[in-house]
Amino acid sequence: MSKPNVALIGMGLIGSSLGHALKKNDLASHISGYARSAQTREAAMDIGFVDSVHDTPEAACIDADVVFFNTPLSAVKALAEQIIPGLKDNAILTDVGSVKAGVLKDISPLLDKRVHFVPGHPIAGTEESGPTAGFAELFEGRWCILTPDDKTSLIAVEQVSKLWQGMGSEVTFMDAAHHDLVLAITSHLPHLIAFNIVGTAAQLENDTRSEVIKYSASGFRDFTRIAASDPIMWRDIFIENKDAVLEVLGRFSEDLTALQRAIRHSDADYLEEVFTRTRGIRQSVVEAGQDTDAANFGRDE
Ligand code: NAP
Repeated sequence: MSKPNVALIGMGLIGSSLGHALKKNDLASHISGYARSAQTREAAMDIGFVDSVHDTPEAACIDADVVFFNTPLSAVKALAEQIIPGLKDNAILTDVGSVKAGVLKDISPLLDKRVHFVPGHPIAGTEESGPTAGFAELFEGRWCILTPDDKTSLIAVEQVSKLWQGMGSEVTFMDAAHHDLVLAITSHLPHLIAFNIVGTAAQLENDTRSEVIKYSASGFRDFTRIAASDPIMWRDIFIENKDAVLEVLGRFSEDLTALQRAIRHSDADYLEEVFTRTRGIRQSVVEAGQDTDAANFGRDE
């Protein structure tokens, strides 16, 4: 395929970043976009990360060679049902959703021989949402995990891989269920803990008039950044990845109980051993290029 026509279904943080990155790297002949709201469609044209906008998904996809679904997970199946009948032969559908087994199960039965689906997940994002939040460099130096199954067309996988590589990502492959377990521990559980701790602290501040917000720089504010993530997106992630999240949550609760017992019994050796091990993991994350080693994440204060 020479430069494809790309359709962006959903133009929030990820959709708009795709538009910017495809344009910056000259990877698409034409980029069409669909969003539900006229406001998002207008913003997309004003900012200029698409070449045309459409008020139905079918219209955005009519000439598309590659269609990216960039909506919350719960919207993808109905959108796929709407657009698949009108797609060109050999069109490729792909997505960016944070949970993979469900979308593969939902979309596979809708496909006919003319249309391919390559599930994907860029490990890149911020806590911002909407069409003004995107930027071209979001995917640079980040992993993009593709989770095709044994029925997925290899040519389609290669086309989607090339686009992600062109946007600066490193592409890797995983089985969908394995992806969901890995992400449950690296992303979904940390978000759940952040949502919970910020919720508990806010309630505490209400109940006791304590000074949680005032002294938040002592650790709490790092959780508030994560807990500010989009509520709809995270609602869908926990519902879609229920089994894997409950599995890692069980393990987490056992470890937390062990820490609780160590504190109760003043078990200094246990506490020191755990905290030394976790400090080592932080070092490995920095060495893997996944974060800065600057003190306080490079903040001024
Ligand atoms: P976002 O900024 O909130 O944008 C969502 C887009 O989807 C908006 O254009 C919205 O349209 C549209 N949309 C929402 N509900 C819809 C519906 N029912 N039907 C049709 N369109 C709908 O979200 P995002 O952060 O880009 O996330 C999009 C996807 O990327 C999610 O599946 C998420 O799992 C995945 N992802 C996110 C991140 C991250 O850090 N944010 C990272 C990796 C993957 P309107 O603007 O018209 O409301």
